[in-house]
Amino acid sequence: MTKTSLQQLASCQDDYDPNSMPVNQARKFIRNFLNPVTAIETLPLKAALGRVLAVSVISPLDVPSHNNSAMDGFAFHSQDIGTEPLEIIGTAFAGKPFTGALKTGECIRIMTGAVIPEGADTVIMQERTQVTGDLMAMTEPPRPQTNVRYAGEDLKAGHAVLEAGRKLRPADLGLIASLGIGEATVYRKLKVAFFSTGDELVSIGQPLATGQLYDSNRYTLHGMLEHLGVEILDMGVVHDDPAALEHALIQASSQADVVLTSGGVSVGEADFMKQLLEKLGQVVFWKIAMKPGRPLAYGKVGQAHYFGLPGNPVAVMVTFYQFVRDALLHLMGQNPVPALPVLKAVCTEPIRKLAGRTEFQRGILFVDADQQWKVRPTGNQGSGILRSMSEANCFIVLDDETGNLPAGTEVDVQVMEGIL
Ligand code: AMP
Ligand code: MG
Repeated sequence: MTKTSLQQLASCQDDYDPNSMPVNQARKFIRNFLNPVTAIETLPLKAALGRVLAVSVISPLDVPSHNNSAMDGFAFHSQDIGTEPLEIIGTAFAGKPFTGALKTGECIRIMTGAVIPEGADTVIMQERTQVTGDLMAMTEPPRPQTNVRYAGEDLKAGHAVLEAGRKLRPADLGLIASLGIGEATVYRKLKVAFFSTGDELVSIGQPLATGQLYDSNRYTLHGMLEHLGVEILDMGVVHDDPAALEHALIQASSQADVVLTSGGVSVGEADFMKQLLEKLGQVVFWKIAMKPGRPLAYGKVGQAHYFGLPGNPVAVMVTFYQFVRDALLHLMGQNPVPALPVLKAVCTEPIRKLAGRTEFQRGILFVDADQQWKVRPTGNQGSGILRSMSEANCFIVLDDETGNLPAGTEVDVQVMEGIL
């Protein structure tokens, strides 16, 4: 990416206005500049949880490898239905097959998972039979070919079981293991460095002087990054000093794929950061048409992707969920990147909202006594009120056109992590 390309692309876009950038347009713009990691590594299966598959997993075998019983009961040929009782000539256990072949009028006792023997195509569950000595009668005959799991019905040999680009989940590890494969080839971990900016910030362990506050952004960022499964470089607090900021940006961009900073991009502070970022890379400054999270800087510092997030604790988290999360998953190689789930829920309170911008109000999604999904706003929606994020489990997403809403309105709700 050259200096002109970022600016050119910006100016090529219809209705590009850095001072009023719609959320979706900013997302699309960012996507155009992402270069996902390409280096790969092969890991033992358990260590690959949460990593992104770089090479599709092809099944070397059929799973299950043989037709087998889905029930404890008796295996026989469906042609014998109506001619019972059948003679019980043996037993098949899971892992200990009956080795003979069945003839007309014969059946075997069979356990769940045991191989269906030659000459049989149907299983009747034990509870629907009556056994007298070595004879089995059916109280409720099954339909032909029932209660059989067929070879390859889970996975077929030669087929792609999991495609490259998939972020591996617990079931995927099991699926790969079921093929007898003990490792996975994944993209290398993405490295993300971050630091907080602000003369007023103090790290935990130091006393607070008047006007100072503890840096909380590095902790929320750490938590969100940890959940995404990236390698984290926490570079501490950097004061609003050009030399210190320049040093920190150079350090961060030389060690990481992505650099995140919080603070210093709002009006009043931005000029100063702008000059610095122009010197070190190419960065665009936007005023996003959203609340919270209006100022956002995006671009490259050296070879690293750069996000300059606002300083307000809620704005940091909102911009992370709305822009950074999606970008990082792309950079990690995940394809496609799933959006955060959006549900409809009835809002229990009236909502105050200005048209012309997207708002991400904090809400608590819950099921009421009538089993209906409801959402309750968390009260004070100020962008410095971090407690509102801690109480919330979702964002109430109110689009540009929406204005004030009465209680009882159905709204879009975006789930952040889990409901609990
Ligand atoms: P800024 O974007 O730098 O103007 O910061 C906006 C507001 O967020 C100010 O009130 C800051 O004190 C606050 N703030 C900035 N960075 C942090 C941080 N790391 N932790 C907590 N609050 C912060
Ligand atoms: Mg600041």
